[in-house]
Amino acid sequence: MKASEIRKKWLDFFASKGHTIEYSAPLVPHNDPSLLWINAGMAPLKAYFDGRVVPENPRIANAQKCIRTNDIENVGKTRRHQTFFEMLGNFSIGDYFKEETIVWAWEFLTDPKWIGFNPELLSVTVYPEDTEAYDLWNLKIGLPAERIYKLDENFWDIGEGPCGPCTEIFYDRGDAYGDLADPECWPGGENERFLEVWNLVFSQFNHNKDGSYTPLPNKNIDTGAGLERFASILQQVDSNFDTDLFQPIIAKTCELAGVKYHVNAEHDVALKVIADHVRTVSFSVGDGVLPSNEGRGYVIRRLLRRAVRYGKVLGLDKPFLYQLTPVVGEIMGSYYTEVVDKADFIEKVIRTEEERFHETLSDGLAILSDMAEKTLQAGGSEISGPDAFKLYDTYGFPFDLTEDFAGEKGLTVNRAGFDAAMQEQRVRARGARQESESMNVQGGPLADFTTKSEFVGYNELVVPANVIA
Ligand code: ATP
Ligand code: MG
Ligand code: MG
Ligand code: MG
Repeated sequence: MKASEIRKKWLDFFASKGHTIEYSAPLVPHNDPSLLWINAGMAPLKAYFDGRVVPENPRIANAQKCIRTNDIENVGKTRRHQTFFEMLGNFSIGDYFKEETIVWAWEFLTDPKWIGFNPELLSVTVYPEDTEAYDLWNLKIGLPAERIYKLDENFWDIGEGPCGPCTEIFYDRGDAYGDLADPECWPGGENERFLEVWNLVFSQFNHNKDGSYTPLPNKNIDTGAGLERFASILQQVDSNFDTDLFQPIIAKTCELAGVKYHVNAEHDVALKVIADHVRTVSFSVGDGVLPSNEGRGYVIRRLLRRAVRYGKVLGLDKPFLYQLTPVVGEIMGSYYTEVVDKADFIEKVIRTEEERFHETLSDGLAILSDMAEKTLQAGGSEISGPDAFKLYDTYGFPFDLTEDFAGEKGLTVNRAGFDAAMQEQRVRARGARQESESMNVQGGPLADFTTKSEFVGYNELVVPANVIA
């Protein structure tokens, strides 16, 4: 089943249950200074949830573009994470509650008319105090107790806004993915034997600015399921990247680089990272974010540069990402028409930014070369920490690259001094962060991705040592 069919089935299913289908909101939140990016299907609907706006129909469903930069390190490592993904959601604003939510989720997942997963392969987690959800799964659905796991983490709370207990649905990929004797292989563990597909949140409280919780005037339902994860199961492939949402992008990258997918593990990671980041950048540019030195624009600039650096792993030394954006349009354009309507613009922005980055890289190399020469002339044997940090901070040179290059000239690089300079910058960034509290509610790693003052180089963007050759 193609991803576009799954998306359609979702919307059709919930329309048949009386939901109004809302088109995806842009990735940039509207009137919501607490969020840098839309990171869940519920995010653009917050005003309905906290009662500021009353929707015409209290039942809503959508397929929402999302960005989660806090998953960046997972991209290419896990089977299931991207920085850009589509969250399929159904929502009840003070209308139906736990029972319909669980019954419909089960129907959508297991009825062959919809997506027809084998019910034997589904397990769930519940919040330990939520006996109502437990009983619905156990008694109403008939899920055996051993497939209902109680987890303390099952309380959904993204900072200011609606929150409450949740129940999550997992698909068992089988023994080949891990041994059930190991608790890490159970739902919620590190292992990916059980793939989390859907989170059903029973939103009953409001998390207030001052940290307190008050009951919401109406109880709401907020659910989110990953389209790419559904696709990986239904297309019987190993990861989200092996689905029809990514394969054409990977194929095009392979063609440009003259490499093959599934031959070299390091290449595969690079191919996945590139495929992910080009979607994130294309969709953000399509939604009006331009690469820049602050805020969202800076996130986009860093993602693009990261993709370019992974391109080097594949031997791609010239701008190439812009050639992938038409493929993104071909895959996604039937639903997200904006990526097709704005294709030329997106391509131009990406190309210009790539070219600029290539210039920055060569400028950095020239400066490094100069530093090395001066050091040698002065009879030194080491590039100083602050110099290495300058290359890192201003030119995006990872420490390893500086070290490799210096090594070629018979020089070492002062690691302790580099770390100290990094630490100083972090302290400065922390000071700046305390002054601006508006954007740090998306969790630690994401907050670190928000404002320019918090940028501490590429320390969170770990790439293989040979990423820039
Ligand atoms: P995980 O534990 O796998 O990181 P999550 O618990 O962080 O997922 P939720 O916040 O519950 O995810 O989001 C709802 C659904 O959205 C998930 O069940 C999953 O299907 C999907 N999803 C979440 N994050 C990602 C991502 N980075 N890439 C792709 N799909 C995602
Ligand atoms: Mg997660
Ligand atoms: Mg989870
Ligand atoms: Mg979850």
